[in-house]
Amino acid sequence: MNKFYITTPIYYVNDIPHIGHAYTTIAADVLARYKRLKGFDVYYLTGLDEHGQKIMEAAQAKGVEVQKHVDEMAEGFKKAWNKLEIKNDGFIRTTSEKHKKVVQEFFKKMMEKGDVYKGQYEGWYCIPCESYWTEIHLKDSPKNKDKKKYVCPDCGRPVKKVKEDTYFFKLSKYQDQLLKHFEENPDFLQPVSRKNEVLSFIKQGLKDLSISRTSFTWGVPIPGDDKHVIYVWFDALINYVSALDAFDGKNYKKYWPADVHVMGKEIIRFHAVIWPIMLMSVGVPLPKKVFGHGWWTVEGKKMSKTTGNVVDPIALAEEFGVDPVRYFLLREVPFGVDGDFSRASLIARFNADLANDLGNLLHRTLTMCEKYFKGEIPNPKNHKFDDLSKELVALSEKTIDEVDKSMNALAFSEALSKIWKVIGVANTYIEKEAPWKLAKAGETEKLEAVIFNLLEVLRITAILISPYMPSTGEKMLSELKASDIRELSFGKKLAGKKVAKGQPLFPRLEK
Ligand SMILES: [Zn+2]
Repeated sequence: MNKFYITTPIYYVNDIPHIGHAYTTIAADVLARYKRLKGFDVYYLTGLDEHGQKIMEAAQAKGVEVQKHVDEMAEGFKKAWNKLEIKNDGFIRTTSEKHKKVVQEFFKKMMEKGDVYKGQYEGWYCIPCESYWTEIHLKDSPKNKDKKKYVCPDCGRPVKKVKEDTYFFKLSKYQDQLLKHFEENPDFLQPVSRKNEVLSFIKQGLKDLSISRTSFTWGVPIPGDDKHVIYVWFDALINYVSALDAFDGKNYKKYWPADVHVMGKEIIRFHAVIWPIMLMSVGVPLPKKVFGHGWWTVEGKKMSKTTGNVVDPIALAEEFGVDPVRYFLLREVPFGVDGDFSRASLIARFNADLANDLGNLLHRTLTMCEKYFKGEIPNPKNHKFDDLSKELVALSEKTIDEVDKSMNALAFSEALSKIWKVIGVANTYIEKEAPWKLAKAGETEKLEAVIFNLLEVLRITAILISPYMPSTGEKMLSELKASDIRELSFGKKLAGKKVAKGQPLFPRLEK
């Protein structure tokens, strides 16, 4: 059986899950579900990044023990993913014993390889981002033009000058090997725009990376020198193998390397530069693909706590339903490109795509099946009796393959457009074939073929949309009496079953 290992980043436990987290997590869930549907043995991992100075400070501000603080925050993420129908196989937390053990083992391996040395770090640190910046980074950043005090090129907040004993990781040693990997694996980093950005960063010259801190204690101690804790990013990246019980665990042997790491574009550099080099150092295969998706603005504005326009995915799901939210996020914008969220566009998609196109096709077809055949699905002699029928059948068969290509490229929106094209053609097919006229004229064979074709298109559609909209897919299949007929090809297994029409899938929103 083919395996498929997919991950989201581990989210910062201090955050409250917002639409950005939900986007990554839903996207990965859709692909994981799709791969399961195609018979893959899937492992879908998400989790939480729970170490670092800022987390320690947040707990102190709250007056609780740090572990208690992260435990409480972790519940919020678990609830959110549960609500959004995320079906993950693993949930890794960096404060778990299992993780800490692997981090130390990883570190030892790098030391044994001679890739870690002790020195002194002097530079700039952004506490909220937990990232280090060199003078050059800061000077080159447009955010630092005309400013007396340096700010973080990522988030714009002030950086702090730090000087301390530290362990360094020999990033520079692997620069050529990494460039070669990019050359030999053109699909390693996607989309292409991200790749060019990262390649030019590598070519500027990689500097050895400071990977330990002594100024705080909330982290994984360095084996044999516990005054030092391991740099949080380093610690965090190892989650992708610690969750699988590296390096001897059954899951590690089965699922590593990852087939795809999915993430927001802001953390691409950690995943496409530092992480692969860490893996090269310990001598294990690199992930097959790293994909950095775009960001959401809200009604044209950058989403931020200060603006107060952070979108809560749970509230949204409660108002519109889980499936419409999942559908909207992946349909509205091609994965990899930035997009804008607005209620108006969500409502427009809901009414046009879900209520009109999909909902009506199902409802009309089931109504006709009831009216003309007492609900019993016909078994036509020749279901491709005319050109329109041939086209509809051919299109829906072709779409199964095309959707597969799009899904494998993480082109979620493209896959949905292809599915909706079939839905559109099926709706037109009803108008053109006019079953009510066939019924009147007593052309039963043709009428059987038309209704049969529509039901079969709906069955295939239900399967193809089920990774995006799990409940909707199941509901449709159950109304079509096809819950156990999951073949992705045009067939006749439905014939003779009795449909069970339910309430319309998506009643129009009047707003
Ligand atoms: Zn920052």
